[in-house]
Amino acid sequence: MVQSIAFIGLGNMGAPMAGNLVKAGYTVTGFDVAEAARKNATERGVRVVETIGGAVGGADTVITMLPNGELVLDVWRQLVGILSPGTLVIDSSTIDVEGARAAHGLLPECLTIDAPVSGGTGGAEAGTLSFMLGGDAAAIEAARPVLEPMAGRIIPCGAAGAGQAAKLCNNMLLGISMIGAAEAFVLGEKLGLDHQALFDVISTSSGQCWSVNTYCPVPGPVPTSPANRDYAPGFASALMLKDLRLANQAATDSMAMTPLGAHALKLYEAFVASGHAHEDFSAIIALLRAAKSVDDGGID
Ligand code: NAD
Repeated sequence: MVQSIAFIGLGNMGAPMAGNLVKAGYTVTGFDVAEAARKNATERGVRVVETIGGAVGGADTVITMLPNGELVLDVWRQLVGILSPGTLVIDSSTIDVEGARAAHGLLPECLTIDAPVSGGTGGAEAGTLSFMLGGDAAAIEAARPVLEPMAGRIIPCGAAGAGQAAKLCNNMLLGISMIGAAEAFVLGEKLGLDHQALFDVISTSSGQCWSVNTYCPVPGPVPTSPANRDYAPGFASALMLKDLRLANQAATDSMAMTPLGAHALKLYEAFVASGHAHEDFSAIIALLRAAKSVDDGGID
């Protein structure tokens, strides 16, 4: 049974995830390059050390939660030769599918899992994240008890890289559907429709989707949606842009036809470039309202 966990990357997601493992009774040793992250994790009961080697020494599980694929590969390369065979190694960052597969290949003697999450910082705090898993069956079974204190749902998706693949497909659809929801509300405004009336129709009719029913991009109909707090995230537009870039790269590499994903990427690039990186991704509705012509779409 896993007792001792090394947690590398103690940022907005990693610190509360590591904190939930501490609460569940695991000994968690952490490492992060940023002082603020180290302090936050220490306050959550994580024993923070000065090096990656110091964090993983004696650990039977290693978890990485880092900003991008290059950093994940850089950290996983540092694990080569220092982990005992059979160590469970989990990456929960959102990264490219090829990078995830390459990471698995670095540690063939270990039980490796790509396990990206959805649910955001709220889910990380509450221990209700959805984990999408890629890896072989033995690794997935070994990972379950470790993930459970951080998880609402654990969904095995297939072989190495399948967790990242599922995450990118989901988030591409989320970006597209949020733009679609925003378009419907902007058109409704132009046609003189009340937001609540339009919400009451769409949320119970064939246009219903998470972007309308749970995360409505206009204030009022769904009190918990970021639109009611000046679009404070939630899920920042910069992170949606990151995920759309990864999805479009995966589409190019695999020759999948994703024209709406490609267009969603262009719209979020324009939105982030115009100073909205830190606003929730549902604030993209402002880009549509600001469009200068019907085929401008907010992009000059
Ligand atoms: P973050 O930037 O808050 O945290 C990343 C941490 O990694 C930082 O504290 C940084 O100092 C640390 N770090 C960078 N390089 C390092 C290294 N070489 N060694 C050790 N630590 C290092 O990011 P986050 O919001 O916690 O997101 C982490 C991952 O989770 C990303 O891949 C992101 O796309 C994904 N994700 C984020 C959310 C969200 O809502 N924030 C939701 C789902 C998935």
